Amino acid sequence: MQIIKDLTNINYSKGNNRKIKYIVIHYVGAVSTARNNASYFKNTYRGASAHYFVDDNEIVQVVEDKDVSWHCGADKYYCEARNSNSIGIEMCCYKKNGKLDISNKIVDKTIELVKELMKKYNIDVNHVVRHYDVSHKVCPAPFVNDENRWNEFKKRLGQAPFKNTTVLEWQKVMNKCYGCELAEDNSYGPDSRAKANNYYLYYEKGKSVIVNDHVKFIQNRLIKKGFSCGESGADKSYGPDTRDAVKAFQKANGLEVDGYVGAETTELLLK
Ligand SMILES: [Zn+2]
Repeated sequence: MQIIKDLTNINYSKGNNRKIKYIVIHYVGAVSTARNNASYFKNTYRGASAHYFVDDNEIVQVVEDKDVSWHCGADKYYCEARNSNSIGIEMCCYKKNGKLDISNKIVDKTIELVKELMKKYNIDVNHVVRHYDVSHKVCPAPFVNDENRWNEFKKRLGQAPFKNTTVLEWQKVMNKCYGCELAEDNSYGPDSRAKANNYYLYYEKGKSVIVNDHVKFIQNRLIKKGFSCGESGADKSYGPDTRDAVKAFQKANGLEVDGYVGAETTELLLK
């Protein structure tokens, strides 16, 4: 992911080895580009700033992650996020029917950026918040006025639990195969994710092939979604054909194409 750096010389504080715990999402509140914002904050004292600005074409970083940007300071707080423990991301706006809105492209890119930062700083989805959640400022307005848009955003960060009967079947198979004591609650949440990662499936030439009902379950899901696991079908054996089916599935779903069935690939196969 390409990030252009155009750091402000003045609108930030030194981080002093700060611990980053939150990511706070904003919108600029005016029509502008990421580069416009970077120059606005560059050399003149503004008493405000953010780490990143995202527009349709670019992501521009204005404050280093390790330093503090001034994006969510307030007199009264409604959660534990502060400038000192968070990264602030501003989404740029356009006007739709006279109202400020955020384009799908910007939302997509912001999600990509947030995911990368979550991974880098080990931040879970519960610590990704709106400016509104910090101080009740109506920001980002389209995500405050329409709660569904914010829920969708969070869902797409990939960690919101979801429920369906396929999850239950999978939990039963995992318990049977590995005795891993997963709650059979239909819900693909943190425990299910962790087990999917602990008991990931893979194929490597020269290593013994994994053969069990977990493999069979995954093969059946692949087949159901239109990905062939080779002539022998769901044969319980995670060989090269199944690995290739997983890779094709990963490619089609925008996942990392590595042929490993861990938490993310499992999640999409269960949906
Ligand atoms: Zn804001």
